[in-house]
Amino acid sequence: MKLPSVGKVSVAAWIIISWHYPCKVDLALGYGEGLTRDRVGVQDFVLLDSHTSETAFLNNLRKRYQENLIYTYIGTLLVSVNPYKELDIYTVTQMQLYRGVNFFELPPHLYAIADNAYRVMCSEYNNHFILISGESGAGKTEASKKILQYYAVTCPTTEQLQIVRDRLLLSNPVLEAFGNAKTLRNDNSSRFGKYMDIQFDFKGEPVGGHILSYLIEKSRVVHQNHGERNFHIFYQLLEGGDKDLLCWLGLERNPQKYAYLIQGRCAKVFSINDKNDWKIVRKAFSIIDFTEKDIEHLFGIVASVLHLGNIQFEEDSNGHAIIRDGTQIKWISKVSRSSQIVSILQVLSPLNVDLAFYARDAVAKAIYGRTFTWLVNKINSSLANKDSTRKTVIGLLDIYGFEVLDTNSFEQFCINYCNEKLQQLLIEMTLKAEQEEYELEGIEWEPIPYFNNKIICDLVEQKHKGIISILDEECLRPGEATDLSFLEKLEEKVGDHAHFVTRKLADQKTRKSIDWVDFRLLHYAGEVTYCAVGSFSLTLFQVLCNSKNGIIRDCFLLSELDNRRRPETVATQFKNSLMSLIEILMSKEPSYVRCIKPNENKEPGKFDDYLIRHQVKYLGLMEHLRVRRAGFAYRRKYELFLQRYKSLCPATWPHWHGPAAEGVERLIKHIGYKPEEYKLGRTKIFIRFPKTLFATEDAFEFR
Ligand code: ADP
Ligand code: MG
Repeated sequence: MKLPSVGKVSVAAWIIISWHYPCKVDLALGYGEGLTRDRVGVQDFVLLDSHTSETAFLNNLRKRYQENLIYTYIGTLLVSVNPYKELDIYTVTQMQLYRGVNFFELPPHLYAIADNAYRVMCSEYNNHFILISGESGAGKTEASKKILQYYAVTCPTTEQLQIVRDRLLLSNPVLEAFGNAKTLRNDNSSRFGKYMDIQFDFKGEPVGGHILSYLIEKSRVVHQNHGERNFHIFYQLLEGGDKDLLCWLGLERNPQKYAYLIQGRCAKVFSINDKNDWKIVRKAFSIIDFTEKDIEHLFGIVASVLHLGNIQFEEDSNGHAIIRDGTQIKWISKVSRSSQIVSILQVLSPLNVDLAFYARDAVAKAIYGRTFTWLVNKINSSLANKDSTRKTVIGLLDIYGFEVLDTNSFEQFCINYCNEKLQQLLIEMTLKAEQEEYELEGIEWEPIPYFNNKIICDLVEQKHKGIISILDEECLRPGEATDLSFLEKLEEKVGDHAHFVTRKLADQKTRKSIDWVDFRLLHYAGEVTYCAVGSFSLTLFQVLCNSKNGIIRDCFLLSELDNRRRPETVATQFKNSLMSLIEILMSKEPSYVRCIKPNENKEPGKFDDYLIRHQVKYLGLMEHLRVRRAGFAYRRKYELFLQRYKSLCPATWPHWHGPAAEGVERLIKHIGYKPEEYKLGRTKIFIRFPKTLFATEDAFEFR
């Protein structure tokens, strides 16, 4: 008898069937009606006949993708391929289906991962995290939202806690409005890294949350590449804000009027409904407990950024910059209520025009960055649970994927370094978990070799010797350090490192000796050439110091320094925040979701072999599979194994009354497992080759 596919029969019917045929519900290798292994592949890669062949891996992924089966396991890791279309697998009924059901009993799903973490948390009272990784547009943010929704719908909750649930859910549209933007790769690309803890009480009710954000891409505020936009909130405000609000802010509805919004030449995007999103954000504000004053303050700043971008400078007779038209300044001082910004702008006048523009942009970036931090803090205080009883958490990590652009700057350097760290974490934790399981079950095994990217992490982060340290040292020599001196230091200190290459080229046009410098890192995920130009262009700090005006030191720079004796460089701040993130994660039980982007055109159903093969490689999926299979491809609790296959042996059918382990021993003797094919652990049977299990499965199917 074949099982019906979950998507095709009504759920009620399905539940009735499952009730009557409990062993058949075990979809360990399960296929729905008409869905044979040939057609839809295996739902766990460890069951592939060949575990070293990338082609076999890809074929399996492709087969499933073409049947809209976007999820596949490697053991307990979930691989997801972006369908780029709405699938009917995220309904409340689907959620309920996965609730409390053992991992392998239903087709692979995000909900199974979410439910598994939740159930283990409740029973073992420990903390978990779900790491969602993959490149831009692969589906990370959607996955993290779906997991959050799953908890919101399926976890028990009281009326009092309803508000926490709503706030958790609504924190997303707010953060996305301020932190996401349309890029070439994704119309809703997250331009910041996000780690969100969902806190549960001892009853498993969600009672609070906390968000950490990482490195928002501030440069986007003042510059966007062709085909990209600024952060959504600007367009939402102009499109959706009511007349009175815009009037109060001194804004016009047309985004074309604002220099900071039109550099990408695509203010309007077909797939984005700014007006509607504005409504959602406004509603979210009121639920997350923003006061009218907060909101006024927030939009005052958003508007100020737009006004700032429209400020033009011209040269006076001394070669100094003067502001061409005072209108913007007037608006900024009105809506931002910040005398700081205005005084900074007014003292830009001793600068030349180029520097004045540069300083204007730096101010815009700084205030947007600070506002984003303020927003996250505000959301956190609204999610905070003041109750001091012990809570357990599930953390969701949705962080930017490995990025290679045409020109890779400092931002890509940080993003890719972050990915190295997370890859390192995954390597350590999966190998560790695998070894621990064998140890726990009393089973001997030989560790397999794998590429450990620690060497690359060290290259970046080592004290005194790493790239970040070298950058820091150079930053301590303001005015003296140049892009070139930085490159020379790198050459001197890490020049012979196996993962480092420098290139110094003469500019083709000007033929100046060195006008363009870069260095290249061989990341675990591929080579990336970073452009060092601009690493030492003047910081806002230096520009403003040059203006020699006392007011600035008093009102802006001091707060910028936050009373620290020596300002940390952005790279070091980022490194430290990553270190503490890794620490947070290391103390928790991991689950992994690896997202794959199927094509570059956001096109449903298109499986681009070349692109996907590359991701399979750098996401380390083959390695993960190998590790998973190095010892035993498959493991099952004795009870579950017996439950499924007991009908294959007269001694265990219809009931086995002794310990499950003994029942399994009788069963496998009867069906003729050879000693090298399996090992018996303390609570589980370990099966070395998938074909053994397939044979058993076939015997079961055709008995
Ligand atoms: P990432 O965060 O990895 O950059 P997103 O999660 O923003 O990528 O996904 C990009 C786009 O892909 C989404 O806006 C959506 O259109 C589509 N998408 C992603 N995951 C799914 C899914 N599970 N079902 C349908 N569409 C999806
Ligand atoms: Mg995202």
